[in-house]
Amino acid sequence: MRVSAYPLVDAGIAAALVLEHTPTLGAQRVHLRECSSRVLAQDLIADAPLPAFPSSAVDGYAVRAADAGRTLRILGESAAGRPFDGRIQVGTAARILTGGALPDGADCVVMVEDVTLAGDRVTVPPGLKSGTNFHPVGADLRAGDHVLSAGTQLGAAEIGIAAAMGRAELDVRMRPRVALMSTGDELVEVGTAPGRGQIPDSNRWALLAALREAGAEVEVLGIAPDRPEPLHRLVVDALERADALVTSGGVSVGTHDLVKPLLESLGDVLVGRVKLKPGKPFTFAKLPGGRLAFGLPGFPVSSLVTFEVFVRPALRKMQGFAQLQRPTLPVRLAYDAKPTAERTEYQRVTLRREGGEIVADTTGSQSSSRLMSLAGADALVRVPAGDVGLAKGSVVEAMILQLP
Ligand code: AMP
Ligand code: MG
Repeated sequence: MRVSAYPLVDAGIAAALVLEHTPTLGAQRVHLRECSSRVLAQDLIADAPLPAFPSSAVDGYAVRAADAGRTLRILGESAAGRPFDGRIQVGTAARILTGGALPDGADCVVMVEDVTLAGDRVTVPPGLKSGTNFHPVGADLRAGDHVLSAGTQLGAAEIGIAAAMGRAELDVRMRPRVALMSTGDELVEVGTAPGRGQIPDSNRWALLAALREAGAEVEVLGIAPDRPEPLHRLVVDALERADALVTSGGVSVGTHDLVKPLLESLGDVLVGRVKLKPGKPFTFAKLPGGRLAFGLPGFPVSSLVTFEVFVRPALRKMQGFAQLQRPTLPVRLAYDAKPTAERTEYQRVTLRREGGEIVADTTGSQSSSRLMSLAGADALVRVPAGDVGLAKGSVVEAMILQLP
């Protein structure tokens, strides 16, 4: 065993360092059909009012409120997409359907339920109010209104409003292109029967899911053996097409741990060890061309927790997200969270509601090889380094992964 040359960096400082060196990617114009879950690169401003014409909210009759209580002559009909061209004068009305344009001269719509109809005459009730039962021009948006901010993730409603404004395309941030590689001579492809001392490459699939969920486009490089040359070749080739490299395994100080020397040969290793549990060997390097490399530890929980703490916020920064971190909520601990002397620990918990509060239960053994501590976990509880810990019953801000 070599002794690591890398200082142990505080987890918070390491996370800040990663973000400091993470660029925000450029923008591209894409059609709305490709916009789902993308991040808006520019503020969206209304260039015209919405609705663009006064539009009926109900089926009924377009009239002048001043004609309340009278019997009016029906001049025609305004249906959705088929407006009435004439003008509503004193003593006249037009039948109108939901979404139909309010005819000129009319200033209110009377619901069909409230009128009495006889041939081409309609009697409207007394006490009509101008401006009722239709959406006036600009009721939803006025020209110049700020509609969506840069950094907003586009969901169904945001895409819907862009379409309602007539915008077929939007400027969104590029997705980070990530090359993903597993290292280790013990790894076999999942589905292939492992031989003696071998295990399936499970990190690849866990990290692929995590990367995609965080918005990345992933190139899977597969399994690299614990030999410097093939590792080097795979990585150099993949970096031609990638904004970031994510590896798992091979970052400890064992003689077979080749990722740190590889990254040293390609760029600057800015973080080589972190005061973090799980995830002490986490490695971060800056490579030429503004590319980033994240060397995640091999233990399955370590790789996913370091992904959460370091990689996911960086991918969000690349995509221009306004919000880089997971949301937090105050939770009451239902267990004693024991500390680790020198390292911040991210403990995995499930959440439940109890009497108006959220209560956090441990997922059991927090061993870095035990993925069951993370499967189904709702949140991460950050336990500060030291000898105090967090006592059962205390309230702490938890990083929310999912709401139960
Ligand atoms: P390493 O960081 O390479 O020393 O690996 C630490 C532990 O994680 C070892 O028990 C490895 O077998 C395990 N491990 C490494 N890579 C993977 C992987 N891709 N999938 C599952 N386990 C892994
Ligand atoms: Mg290994």
